[in-house]
Amino acid sequence: MELTDPETPAPCWNCKAIIAQRDKYCRYCGKGQGSNVPWYYSHFGIIVMTLFGLGPFSLGLVWKSPRLSREAKVAYTLGILVFTWYVAMYIYNAYLAINALLTGALSGFGLQ
Ligand SMILES: [Zn+2]
Repeated sequence: MELTDPETPAPCWNCKAIIAQRDKYCRYCGKGQGSNVPWYYSHFGIIVMTLFGLGPFSLGLVWKSPRLSREAKVAYTLGILVFTWYVAMYIYNAYLAINALLTGALSGFGLQ
């Protein structure tokens, strides 16, 4: 038997249960296999989820994804950490700016 035989037992990427390679969905946990892996585990999905949804929590998707190589996972992890740091700095600077504005306004009215 060759490795490409559709009946070859293969572990589910999600729950590690042994299923057949031809199975489109895991018969134990229901996760899609091969081309039926949920979209948010793809490169595109992870980028979208990071930017518009999960932020640093998308690291969970990155490390669970069966679609990404180990190198890609490391690259995404670094990218997500830099992105998170950038957003945190942006919010912090906005806070400082608003704070300075309010302090200036208050002292302008002689309330400081
Ligand atoms: Zn499974």
